[in-house]
Amino acid sequence: MSAQESTLITGISELVTNDGEPVTNDGQPGGFAALTDAALVIADGTVAWTGPASRAPAADTVVEVSGRAVLPGFADSHAHLVFAGERSAEFAARMAGRPYRAGGILVTVQATRAAPDVVLRANLRRLAAEMLRQGTTTFECKSGYGLTVPDEARGLALAAEVTPEVTYLGAHVVPPEFAADPAGYVDLVCGPMLAACAPSARWVDVFCEDGAFGADEAAAVLAAGRAAGLGARVHANQLGPGPGVRVAAEAGAASADHCTFLTDADVDALTSTPVVATLLPGAEFGTRQPFPDARRLLDAGATVALATDCNPGSSFTSSMPFCIALAVREMGMTTEEAVWAATAGGARALRRTDIGHLGPGARAALILLDAPSHAYLAYRPGVPQVAAVWQAGRLVAGSLP
Ligand SMILES: [Zn+2]
Repeated sequence: MSAQESTLITGISELVTNDGEPVTNDGQPGGFAALTDAALVIADGTVAWTGPASRAPAADTVVEVSGRAVLPGFADSHAHLVFAGERSAEFAARMAGRPYRAGGILVTVQATRAAPDVVLRANLRRLAAEMLRQGTTTFECKSGYGLTVPDEARGLALAAEVTPEVTYLGAHVVPPEFAADPAGYVDLVCGPMLAACAPSARWVDVFCEDGAFGADEAAAVLAAGRAAGLGARVHANQLGPGPGVRVAAEAGAASADHCTFLTDADVDALTSTPVVATLLPGAEFGTRQPFPDARRLLDAGATVALATDCNPGSSFTSSMPFCIALAVREMGMTTEEAVWAATAGGARALRRTDIGHLGPGARAALILLDAPSHAYLAYRPGVPQVAAVWQAGRLVAGSLP
């Protein structure tokens, strides 16, 4: 098959293009938009044409999807996939109402440090394949369970094998060996660890929260990362009110993630700067905490993304459809807003303009639902509805009707 070969997908009941009017404070075009009775042509790995099925041009291959919906692939902009071990007992105890303090993140740190590369790589690839089958065509992957120079560096090198969106999270928690010297750990994160990690990474992230890193430490980590050429992202305001969103805004971060506990000043910061508010409802689900108030952010004009936060402790889901369903049911989002946040919103959080939409020129990363409209993602929660996935114009998961 030639790379130049074109594919026409036709009979699309609803084609979500996300090339509508601006909807967010950043003024960029690309609000939620959809065509009905539509067709789309892929050529050379990109979207070459969209429009009414009745006017579709000829192509080398024709795929008739008989009244099903086509969407941009999901962009999961927040995931922790480089780890070993699992923590189902901790989850079960939490759901049973028992305080379970078995060490949390540090349990995973211990298992990850002890695991050979082959184990970490196999786990990572299994999760990446799981994401793809569920329609995620772009995902971000963080380190953060190594917390030594060699363990963080190998985690990022492994992540770089499966995604270009690699994030250095040496500042996840202070490891036990630095319990008496947290400032020394910040120096390590900003110095030798960063030097070893930056070549594999695109982003730097910090867990800015009580019990993790404070405002000054977080700002130092982000400044060091930026000096090494990395873009900034922040774990902010997850467990309570705090300085995370402010730190993200001051650092020019691409995204402030979690945003569960926000003051009015935080909401102002998210609407007066280009920082995307990335909401991670899997974490609130997995810890039985109140969900973030997406409605408040959207009404204020913030740019909202949805992501899984896939990790073995607080949110062990890789499913963007699950997050969409939670966002619609529990966070006040419309189905259009939630699907936009899981596609175009994730793209904004990663500062990508080639994904998250399906206008001509977009990367041909798209999904076919076994359903007539995007709303089914929330309307039929828990049901696998992603029938086929195209990546760079090629069918890479599922099958055609
Ligand atoms: Zn996270």
